[in-house]
Amino acid sequence: MSGSTQNFDAVVIGAGFSGMHMLKSLRDKLGLKVRVYEAGETVGGTWYWNRYPGARCDSDSYIYCFTWDRQLLQEWEWSERYPEQPEILRYLEHVAKRHDLKRDIQFNTRVIGAEFDETTNLWTVHTDKGEDVTARYLIAGVGTLSTTNMPSFKGLETFKGKWYHTSRFPHSGVDFTAKRVAVVGTGATAVQAIPEIAQQSKQLTVFQRTANYCVPARNGKVDPELVKARKADYDAVVKRVRESPFGQERYAIPKSVLETTPEEREREFDRMWDAGGFDFWIANYQDMLVDQAANEVCADYIRRKIRKTVKDPSVAERLMPKGHAYGTKRQPLDTNYYETFNKDNVLLVDASTDGPIEEITENGIRAGGKDYEFDIIVFATGFDAMTGPLKALNLKGRGGRTLDQEWADGPHTYLGISVAGFPNLFTITGPQSPSVLSNMPVSIEQHVEWITDCIDAMRSAGKTTIEATPRAQDEWVAHVNETIAGTLMTSANSWYMGANIAGKPRAFLPYLDPEGVGGYRKRCDEIAAKGYEGFALA
Ligand code: NAP
Repeated sequence: MSGSTQNFDAVVIGAGFSGMHMLKSLRDKLGLKVRVYEAGETVGGTWYWNRYPGARCDSDSYIYCFTWDRQLLQEWEWSERYPEQPEILRYLEHVAKRHDLKRDIQFNTRVIGAEFDETTNLWTVHTDKGEDVTARYLIAGVGTLSTTNMPSFKGLETFKGKWYHTSRFPHSGVDFTAKRVAVVGTGATAVQAIPEIAQQSKQLTVFQRTANYCVPARNGKVDPELVKARKADYDAVVKRVRESPFGQERYAIPKSVLETTPEEREREFDRMWDAGGFDFWIANYQDMLVDQAANEVCADYIRRKIRKTVKDPSVAERLMPKGHAYGTKRQPLDTNYYETFNKDNVLLVDASTDGPIEEITENGIRAGGKDYEFDIIVFATGFDAMTGPLKALNLKGRGGRTLDQEWADGPHTYLGISVAGFPNLFTITGPQSPSVLSNMPVSIEQHVEWITDCIDAMRSAGKTTIEATPRAQDEWVAHVNETIAGTLMTSANSWYMGANIAGKPRAFLPYLDPEGVGGYRKRCDEIAAKGYEGFALA
């Protein structure tokens, strides 16, 4: 490696929600010398990269933002319940400018490796620009869904049209006008993109491998009176979401669905369906994710909705999820998704009834022995979630051990923040933390605050390194797995289980705290209060 060696107190990787807040906190609260590396050309992370048509937030905007700038909470006006990608990016640009963050962020620079030096107790970080810098603390704010999953489809290189992955869409946009378009995948991304692309294109063909349970988002303008009331109550809102189950003001119905009458539950389901958003998933009856029979009652409601919405019964039948329980895959929120299949220019090709994709051809896609011709193929095939972005950093801990080696059978972390053998490495919303099972900014802020306090405490106590003990880590991994074992979540072939990536070990990637993000926050704080129990400080 060439280039000058600069020394920092902390290197932060990524300038999305996580990295921006981490920089602000370490630099402006603790006065540390911080360098942030960001592969994109500006801030934003997820909201910089994911520019596909229809990309928008699935959490309500009033809680999908930074809460550490209380003044900005009052000043910023979101245009809709779920803002679109350009608006969120504008918001993050505004925050970067307001807090002068960019002066410590090096853009267009990817971290390609880092190793911990056991003699100096420093990390040496390498970038794709040939730089080597050292830092006491290394903080990964690389996101959970940032490593693209592009399956190796046979024949892709022969395709004469254009193809894109949703997470790497061209910044100039894609003109679908008069084009024959394929979308591969029916996850949360595709469910947002399909209705938009169907409106713009001449013909849209959707390649579905697994049908999903979609629930209406019900986007739109938020009643100005409600906006005002929330602003007046922001301190309490922030407190509630921090103490909540999923980082949102949503709470399960404390009752089994099986104890209700058909009329009662139909009323509740209708209420949740009409409210839109994540109510149906996380504010449903409390046994929905633990009891197969309870789950089936909810699943049946959604199937009936699909049957009612989609005019062609054979298309409706193929759009109905079978073989996995409701809520065990990430809930897609939709705006006219099922209605889109009533359009004359939209065709569904379902792997189980029409045949799976066999190969990409010069002119399109061959599936089930049939050739379909396209000008554009959009792959909405997701991500190597949670562990992927961390492994891609090529980190080497004590003894040169890599995360690939440490995580050969799935992630091993302590609290999802720390990895044994990787001193002074902190992972914001890392595997085995609530992260993707919560409203992300809430979990990001919790980790950033915890890491900041930890570094502050270390410095006050004159400690140089902190690392999870193998024992605390083993206990945490066992706890994460025990907690999820009593639910239906482990039964699905979801990205939560690592099942979307060929060869990835099957393991539950996030952490479902029985007491929600509030309970997890309490655990982390108690561990800190006990002098960082489960960590070795030196
Ligand atoms: P995903 O949920 O992993 O969905 C990928 C889709 O591609 C699935 O339908 C999958 O089928 C299909 N697929 C993958 N490999 C395939 C192959 N080789 N052949 C055919 N089909 C294949 O990915 P995503 O939709 O990008 O969503 C990922 C996550 O991003 C979401 O779950 C969510 O957490 C996040 N997200 C958030 C927002 C938001 O809040 N604004 C919006 C979009 C996404 P199978 O189901 O059979 O694997």
